[in-house]
Amino acid sequence: MSENVPADIHDYLKLLERAPETFRRSWDAIAIYDLEGRVVAGNAVARAMIGSDRASSMLGRHFAEHMTLEAATKAARDFAHCVTLGQRVESSSVFVGEDGQPIPVRTLLVPARVGNRIVGVIGFARDLRHRQDILGQFMRSEQQFRSLFENHPDGLALHDLESRFLRVNSAAERLTGYTLDEMIGQTPELFGPDTGYDVEAVRAAMLRGETTEFEHPIHTKSGGTLEINGRRVPLILDGEVRGFCSMIHDVTEERRAARNSARQATRIAELYRIAASASVAQEERVKTALEAGVAELGAEWAYVARFDNDRFEITFSAGTRPQKIPLEAERDRIRAELKSEDVFVFSDPAAYPPSLAGTALAVEGTHYGAVAFVQTGAPMNLSTMDRDYIRALGVLIGSAIQQGERTKRLDTLAFGDALTGLPNRALLEDRLEQTLLSARRHRRSFAAHYVDIDYFKTINDTYGHHVGDAVLIAVSSWLRSVLRDSDTIGRIGGDEFVVLQPEIDSQDQAEEVAAKLCTIRDQTLRAGAHDIRVTISVGCAVFPMDAENPVDMLKAADAALYDVKHRGRDGYAIGIAQ
Ligand code: GH3
Ligand code: MG
Repeated sequence: MSENVPADIHDYLKLLERAPETFRRSWDAIAIYDLEGRVVAGNAVARAMIGSDRASSMLGRHFAEHMTLEAATKAARDFAHCVTLGQRVESSSVFVGEDGQPIPVRTLLVPARVGNRIVGVIGFARDLRHRQDILGQFMRSEQQFRSLFENHPDGLALHDLESRFLRVNSAAERLTGYTLDEMIGQTPELFGPDTGYDVEAVRAAMLRGETTEFEHPIHTKSGGTLEINGRRVPLILDGEVRGFCSMIHDVTEERRAARNSARQATRIAELYRIAASASVAQEERVKTALEAGVAELGAEWAYVARFDNDRFEITFSAGTRPQKIPLEAERDRIRAELKSEDVFVFSDPAAYPPSLAGTALAVEGTHYGAVAFVQTGAPMNLSTMDRDYIRALGVLIGSAIQQGERTKRLDTLAFGDALTGLPNRALLEDRLEQTLLSARRHRRSFAAHYVDIDYFKTINDTYGHHVGDAVLIAVSSWLRSVLRDSDTIGRIGGDEFVVLQPEIDSQDQAEEVAAKLCTIRDQTLRAGAHDIRVTISVGCAVFPMDAENPVDMLKAADAALYDVKHRGRDGYAIGIAQ
C-alpha cells in the first residue's frame, strides 16, 4: 500500500507524529487521506466508526467505500474543493458502518500541508447518533470537562447504551493496560468472562435511571487480575438516557489487606484454640502450634531450641527435617538473637538453610531459647502479618513450655529425693516458705539447721560411690529417727541436709536439736558390708533473729555451718553472729 502513497503525505504524517496525542485522543473520528482520497491514517474513533478492529483494514480504503453513494458524490466534490482550493469544507454526510448501518455525520475536511504544498486531506467526522450527542453535549464546556475527565485519578469511561466504550481516560488505560484505541468500540466484556458483564442488564438499569455499583475481578491486558470496584451512572440528556459513565477504582490492595487480616485473625485464633485445649499435654500443644506454624508460613521444618549456657538442644520439632542441616551455624546466629524480643529472619540464598525465621522464647522470665522456622527451598517471604504471627506463636509456645516446666516441678516436689526418699531442695524450700509464713502469722520462732557430713569425699574415695550412697541413706534414716514428726528434713545437695524445726520458744531449743544431731558421731552406721562412723557439722539460723525470709534463713544457716567447718567440724553453731 505504501507505494500508492505519495512521499509527501508521509512527510505530513511525520509532522503529525510529533503531536500523536491530539490525533489519538480526539473525540472525533479523524482520517488522513492522500490526494486521491485513500486513508493513510485513522484514529480509534474512525476505526470504530468505519473500519474494523484491525487498524490496517482501514488503511488504503477510499473514502467512497465508507459512504453511501449519494454521500460519496457530495464528498468527492468537497474533497476536490479542499485539495484544489486549499479550503476547509464543512458538510454533513452519511457513512456506512461496518454493520452496513448508515451513520449520520458532520464532517470537516481540512487540507494537509507540508510547507505551502497540499499533500492530502484531514477529515474530521462527528457521529450524530446518540453517542455523538452525548459527547457533543458534554463537550459544550469541552475544555473543562475534558481536563476533569482526563485527570481524574479513577478510571472513567463513557459508554453508549450498548456498553461500548466511547471514551476512556488515562487512569482507565493505566488500570486495564488497554489503550484507548483498543477499548473504543468494545464493551467491558473485553476484561474477561468472570466480570459477569451483562450488556442487556446494564442497559435496562441505565434506562431506569439507576446508578449501579459493582465489584468484580478484571483481567488486564498484561494478564494480571485486578479487583475492581465501580459504579455506573446514567447520562441523561434532554430528558433521555443516552448512555452512561462508568467509574472504576482498583481495590485489589484493600481487598487483599482485608482478606489477609481476616486470615490473620483466623490463624491467630487457631493458635489460641490450641493454647486453650487444656486437656492436651503441653508437649502436644507445643507440637501442634509448631505444625500450624509450618503450614501457615510455608516452612519445611520448625523447631524449639533450648539454650542452656553452651548447650543447644532441640526440644520440639514439626515438619520434615532437611537433610544434613548444619545446626552449628544456625545455633550461633540464633543465639545472637536470644535477647531480642523481635522476630528474626535470616534470608540468604547462598546459605543453608537459605531462610530461617523465628523468635526468642521467654520462659519464666528467662531466655529459654527460640522457635525457628526453616526453609531450604526459595527464601521465605514474610509479611508484617507473618511476623506478628510468629510473635504470637512464640508467646504461646513459651507459655506452654512454662506450664510444662511448672507441672514437672510439681511432680518433683511430690516425689522428693530419689536416693533417700527425703524431700528434695524444691520441696524443702517450699516447706521453709510455709513454715516461715506460719511463724510470722503466729509470731512464733523456728530454726533451720544446715547439716553437712564431714569429709564425705573420703568415704567415697575409700569405699566407693555405692558405699557413699549407702552412707547417705543411713545418715538420713538416723537423722529422721532422732527428729520429731513435726520436723522436716530434706536432702538439698550431695551430703547436705536441712532440718526445719518449727515452733520453738527459744534459741535453746534450736541448740538442743543441733546438739542432738551431732551425736551421730557415736553411731555406727551400716553401709553395705561396711560399718562406718561419721561426724557432721550443723549451722543453725533462728527466725526472726537471724533472718526474716527463706533465702536469708538458708544463707544464715550456711554461714554458721561454714564457721563450724572452719573451726574443725563435728559441732554446731547458731546464728550468724557466731
Ligand atoms: P567437708 O567436711 O568440708 O564437708 O568435706 P566433704 O568431703 O564432705 O566435702 P563436700 O561436703 O564439699 O562434698 C561432698 C561430696 O559428696 C562431694 C561429692 O563427691 C559427694 N557426693 C555428692 N552427691 C553424692 C551422692 O549422691 N552420692 C555419693 N556417694 N556421693 C556424693
Ligand atoms: Mg561434706
